[in-house]
Amino acid sequence: MPSSRSHIIVIGAGVTGLTSAVFLAEAGYEVTVIAAHVPGDSSIEYTSPWAGAHWHTHATPDDPRACDWDVQTYEYWIDLLEREKRDAKLPKAGLKVYDSFKYWDFPGTDELWWAPYVKDFRVLADHHEPVRSINERTPKGAGEIKEAVVYRAVAVNVSQYLLYLQERARKAGAVVIKARLPVEQGLQNALQAAEGEAMSKGRSKADCFVNATGLGAAKLCGYEAMYPIRGQTVLVKGEAETIFTRSGVDYGAYCIPRPGSGSTILGGTKEKDVWSETPDPRVTEQILKHAALNIPELMTGSDGGFEVVSVQCGLRPGRQGGARVEREVVGGKRIVHAYGHAGGGYQNSIGSARLTVRLVDESLACAPVGARL
Ligand SMILES: Cc1cc2nc3c(=O)[nH]c(=O)nc-3n(C[C@H](O)[C@H](O)[C@H](O)COP(=O)(O)OP(=O)(O)OC[C@H]3O[C@@H](n4cnc5c(N)ncnc54)[C@H](O)[C@@H]3O)c2cc1C
Repeated sequence: MPSSRSHIIVIGAGVTGLTSAVFLAEAGYEVTVIAAHVPGDSSIEYTSPWAGAHWHTHATPDDPRACDWDVQTYEYWIDLLEREKRDAKLPKAGLKVYDSFKYWDFPGTDELWWAPYVKDFRVLADHHEPVRSINERTPKGAGEIKEAVVYRAVAVNVSQYLLYLQERARKAGAVVIKARLPVEQGLQNALQAAEGEAMSKGRSKADCFVNATGLGAAKLCGYEAMYPIRGQTVLVKGEAETIFTRSGVDYGAYCIPRPGSGSTILGGTKEKDVWSETPDPRVTEQILKHAALNIPELMTGSDGGFEVVSVQCGLRPGRQGGARVEREVVGGKRIVHAYGHAGGGYQNSIGSARLTVRLVDESLACAPVGARL
């Protein structure tokens, strides 16, 4: 084990960077977070504030690492909520457990490998509520629910959770610096700039870096593997009492309450390679049409429709081959990459950040700088 006061610079203050910063700082490292966008900021280059977000694994058994990350996060969040319940003085993370319904308009093809790991998993028959009512409301030919399950899952008030992580990292001694690092001359140059930025604020030289730049990694590490997966969502007034996701033959729909905010996120799209941040009004119409069938209790407007607060797009950081969480030495500098978590950055976050800490430990313990790993 290297000196626990080694200095780690985490680049990025999304859910990936901040969770890593919390665990690194709580493990005793000196941590500096450097990011162009920090909690409270709003930008198409900053994905985390645009997420739903809820625990709804996309991992498949052929990717045991991602399955494990998601299970770790599920267990950690449930435990965090238990601890919040027991100790009223703990700051609230913005998490809440709900019944989460998963519907398919065709015989379910998803692997349910995760069923034993979640609370209160049940298969629903078509006479069970709310499946029966939804199918009754659905116009003929519009596709009905063919299979359904329900389980307990966590939804995240994303802006509150990001602030919570930042505050927790700070309490453990981390310093957060808002700065954009240059990308034009590659990663090595950006790492030098990060170190210069930290040292100008009185921090020491970096012993290791964590690259948690999300889609920004495309510019730092090359575009070949990275691509955006655009998601359009509609925020409406009223906090749904349950979560649902629905897989139609040619569409996807979901509803995720934002705990404690009096609002709910309705989604949504997954559009690969689309970089635009401008919402498409036809997509908004489709999202609201599906929501009207699945969650009509949120239609509280005086005209009988939804009370729309905002319509927005976020870019999930997609990566061929899945998230990159591995160590490297670049120009004599140790680095642990942690980016490319696509549509699962929140549910991956605990397992992924624990791996990041392990890789930082290993990197400091055994990699002579300059060696190829
Ligand atoms: C509509 C939508 C719904 C989603 N729903 C869910 C869900 O239900 N569950 C779930 O688990 N996930 C969900 N996701 C996915 C999740 O939001 C992402 O996987 C996650 O936010 C990625 O976080 P990140 O920290 O890796 O990246 P980001 O949040 O993008 O953070 C990147 C950080 O790096 C910084 N950065 C980048 N380049 C530079 C630079 N050159 N210099 C300095 N700083 C830099 C940025 O400023 C930022 O701070 C959803 C996403 C969208 C868009």
